Amino acid sequence: MANMDLDLANMSPEAYDSYIEQMRREQYPMLKDTLYLDHAGTTLYSKRLMDRFHEEMMGSIFGNPHSASPSSQRSTQHVDNVRLALLRFFKADPERFDLVFTSNATAAIKLVMEAFREQSEGYWYGYHVDSHTSLIGVREAAREHKCFESDEEMELWIACQGQETDQRMRLLAYPAQSNMTGRRLPLDLCRRLRRTAGGSGAYSLLDAAALVSTTPLDLSNAEAAPDFTALSLYKIFGFPDLGALIVRKDCASLFLKRRYFGGGTVDMVACLKEHWHVQKSGTLHEQLEDGTLPVHSIMALKAAIQTHSELFGRLEEVSQHTARLAKQLREILASMRHANGERVAMIYKSEASDYSDSTTQGPIVAFNLRNSKGSWVSSTEVEKLASVKDIHLRTGGVCNPGGIAQSLGLAPWEMRENFSAGHRCGSENDIMNGKPTGVLRVSLGAMSTMSDVHRFLGFIEEFFVDRSARPHAPSALQSCLRQRFHVESLTVYPVKSCAGWQVPYARTWEIRKEGLAWDREWCIVHQGTGKALSQKQHPRMALIRPALDFKAGVLRIRAPGTTEQLTLPLSKDPSHFETEDFAHRDASVCGESIKAKLYTSSTVADYLTKALDVPCTLARFPAASADSPSTRHSKAHLQRSDRAADVPRQILLSNESPILTISRSSLNRLNEQIKAKGGKAAHPAVFRANIVLAESPLSPPGHERPWAEDEWKSMRVGGVDGPVLDFLGGCRRCQMVCIDQASGERNQEPFVTLAKTRRFEGRVLFGVHTALAAEQRVPCSIITAGDAVETFV
Ligand SMILES: *Cc1c(COP(=O)(O)O)cnc(C)c1O
Repeated sequence: MANMDLDLANMSPEAYDSYIEQMRREQYPMLKDTLYLDHAGTTLYSKRLMDRFHEEMMGSIFGNPHSASPSSQRSTQHVDNVRLALLRFFKADPERFDLVFTSNATAAIKLVMEAFREQSEGYWYGYHVDSHTSLIGVREAAREHKCFESDEEMELWIACQGQETDQRMRLLAYPAQSNMTGRRLPLDLCRRLRRTAGGSGAYSLLDAAALVSTTPLDLSNAEAAPDFTALSLYKIFGFPDLGALIVRKDCASLFLKRRYFGGGTVDMVACLKEHWHVQKSGTLHEQLEDGTLPVHSIMALKAAIQTHSELFGRLEEVSQHTARLAKQLREILASMRHANGERVAMIYKSEASDYSDSTTQGPIVAFNLRNSKGSWVSSTEVEKLASVKDIHLRTGGVCNPGGIAQSLGLAPWEMRENFSAGHRCGSENDIMNGKPTGVLRVSLGAMSTMSDVHRFLGFIEEFFVDRSARPHAPSALQSCLRQRFHVESLTVYPVKSCAGWQVPYARTWEIRKEGLAWDREWCIVHQGTGKALSQKQHPRMALIRPALDFKAGVLRIRAPGTTEQLTLPLSKDPSHFETEDFAHRDASVCGESIKAKLYTSSTVADYLTKALDVPCTLARFPAASADSPSTRHSKAHLQRSDRAADVPRQILLSNESPILTISRSSLNRLNEQIKAKGGKAAHPAVFRANIVLAESPLSPPGHERPWAEDEWKSMRVGGVDGPVLDFLGGCRRCQMVCIDQASGERNQEPFVTLAKTRRFEGRVLFGVHTALAAEQRVPCSIITAGDAVETFV
């Protein structure tokens, strides 16, 4: 391999960067078109690592360790070797330290918590405000706990430890690097604590999960080292999914009171008549590693350590390289301005850190964006655009509640209020009371390059920097033209998120309170969770074609790549059904629980499971009753918001409405814009509308009225006696409109162009939510493709 001849340690930064750029083409083929910026979540695994692991596994048998067979002996030996190699990776002397394999850093932290919980007087627990939730959780088993809101507070506490008369055990925990801001905390606090406490029962727990991803951790001085160090190994190597706890052997006795035993951690157990056991008395890891070790993962770890050093050199090189990238990213992001001079990004950074100093700052940038008027851009919006551009970043609370509250200035009462107003970790509504509730986080890793940094900055520039004075606002000009439109086509989606079925031309169709007849009458639900599947996660759903056959009285469903189809009765009349075919169960749509009848027939389940490659089956919504006309779906959750001067009305919470209407003229305009940039025009099917309105084909060219629907309040269809439908507001769009409804493939358009031309207060709008108006003069509301439409503003 070429890089084995390269002296990675003595390369110039530019040469190292271009080396990585070249090397990753071969070693990280999955990065081809992708910009991956979530290395703090997990970094990536190389081709060489996977090949090497594969080769080792195929080369010999690795059995369950601790028995006499050759395959078992081989495993035991390998585990011992890898344990030593990993200790050496951190320069930890095996005489002074032991290493316990765990499933992740959280499990490592939990082991420490379990040991302290068993101490006779309980324990006192102090943790730094920058802690990950995994450290914060340790407080729940403590007699008393304290969150240090600053370094000074924590240092003061450390300084007082000499005079401490408390006999109780004390545990001090902090992250070596904040997983939110990337700030690196001083490592020598552990040494200082050991010095002041002088054996009086105060211990240190260092959460190094984020730090070691891009930086060496040197435990060669056992006197200065933390008592417990928790690690996530996949954050360094990308694979395997393992964690570890490194323990100073001086503290081993703390674990003696541990009560649980099982699998590998016990020498002898009696359970007939007498009940006693003898815990393993050997090394600490023997006492703590319950059950069978993840032997094969540990095997992979050996390959991971070797490959990492071949591809990247030492972690010192990784550290310098990523620090340089992060510094550039932060500098340019911080300097970005809108045309009116307003700042684009608010970057969250601790005063104690400096992007020029890798001992105080890691390669993470946490920020939020503002528009040119100074209001916050919703991170959901950023995420949607990033995802069409194949950019992977992290948004939200990033498991760091203290860091978030401090950076965003959220007081406890505000967090409570947001929580009661429905905000949850990962929820869509991320701006509450005008303040963001989370952050955008980009994090770099060993295989990141300067080209990644520039591609990311280009993305921010393209979508979030306002070069003009004002965004496009719909004009009020169109208001007088009331009768130029007609219903071009009607489509229903019998199975939610699957392909549409076009209502034949001139066929009358019933409109109900909850929508067009037969629209979203069925849904496909996950067999494990009962959640309704959506096209967002399962683009192949677009290819599942339901068809209504009223002559035969059946719904036919055809999946791609098969000549077979499902045929199900349209009737809900029990005589048409085998009642055993149904089981009542709660299903949930968009996280909301609804009552749906599940088909338990294995033919139905097998057919759909095969088509989508997820365990799923079909469910049918019960008929809407008179007293609760809209029990179906989340259709009941429409909210009207007031109409701001130049902004189309919006619906806040719903992602579904009874009926969705789009205008052919608006679509034509959008497609002109897409084509002008060389993009592929959007097919109307991607918008999954129920009603497509079009202007008269006789109107002269250039006289179309695109975006007229922004102004409309209602419409009457089919003449003066026809039903009236209300427009409830613009339909908020996401990257789902990029799924080609014929092939199931994802594209960038039309979302990219929509986001540039149709973004209002952070919401990308296309089409209007529509519902039957409350008062109708006619008993039964009917719509027909071809109907004339009269619009009202
Ligand atoms: C990732 C991370 C954790 C949690 O690690 P797991 O491996 O998911 O348990 C804890 N602390 C910090 C600082 C982290 O970055």
